[in-house]
Amino acid sequence: MDYKTILENIHASVQPYSCVGKVADYIPELAKVNPDKFGICLNTIDDGDYSIGDSGERFSIQSISKVFALAMALSIKGEALWSRVGKEPSGTAFNSLVQLEVEHGIPRNPFINAGAMVVADILLTSFDNSAERYLEFVRALCGKDDICYNEQVARSERETAYLNAAIANLLKYHKNIDCDVEEVLRLYFLTCSLEMNCHELARAFLAFANHAEPFSYAGIELTRSQIKRMNAIMQTCGFYDEAGEFSYLVGLPGKSGVGGGIAAICPMRYSVAVWSPRLNSKGNSVMGMKALEELTTITSESIF
Ligand code: GLN
Repeated sequence: MDYKTILENIHASVQPYSCVGKVADYIPELAKVNPDKFGICLNTIDDGDYSIGDSGERFSIQSISKVFALAMALSIKGEALWSRVGKEPSGTAFNSLVQLEVEHGIPRNPFINAGAMVVADILLTSFDNSAERYLEFVRALCGKDDICYNEQVARSERETAYLNAAIANLLKYHKNIDCDVEEVLRLYFLTCSLEMNCHELARAFLAFANHAEPFSYAGIELTRSQIKRMNAIMQTCGFYDEAGEFSYLVGLPGKSGVGGGIAAICPMRYSVAVWSPRLNSKGNSVMGMKALEELTTITSESIF
């Protein structure tokens, strides 16, 4: 497969969408990002990586961080994790409070904010230094030891986090958070603020694409079956109330973030990361989704 030419063609074909959507501005620091950035990197299981555009520039991974946090929590808790968080698509926005109230503080899945906060609580109770352990794990996954949190982004989000704070408090009210609410929010925002580029994200996700290899990074181990199950959750819950649309148009397990990144995998073939900061109304990158739709259409490589 001539991925280099394919990526060049994709880059050209997404240009008509270059002004569609808008950068996430509810986190003031994210509003400062240049909306015209576009990068993509595809990492094959056996044939290296291919990239185009601003693929070497780091950006805020935001909710893509929830995949790494889930991997850690699943490795620690195993199936017991599912007594505190579900694995059903929510069909609602990533920051919705509605189901959480009706379902008595058990979030639908680990990829909506409420679920990720429960996961953050599990990490906090499992490690003395959970923020450092998280960073070590992602550094090992992507093979780069200089990726870092952006404290300014984390602080900026905390200062305006009225809705996320309400979610955390509702979880605490329902006794689904053991730690202090403020501590949980701090770890949650910190992990969201992690900055990575498309190469690093694609490399990190390769571990989920290649479920034939043992998964063991910085002391975090997953079985082959656990990796496949994580992919199942990415497929059904990775794009919130647009998970069906992403499945329909792209057909890959993946995860988006309001920083404009999307990481996805084609099991036993490749991982791919794309970045374009303009988002649609569901909080997913417009050009990112379009690029991945083109990729799986041109290559016929999706899970379907
Ligand atoms: N930090 C963001 C939030 O909690 C993450 C949302 C996202 O990327 N979808 O609102």
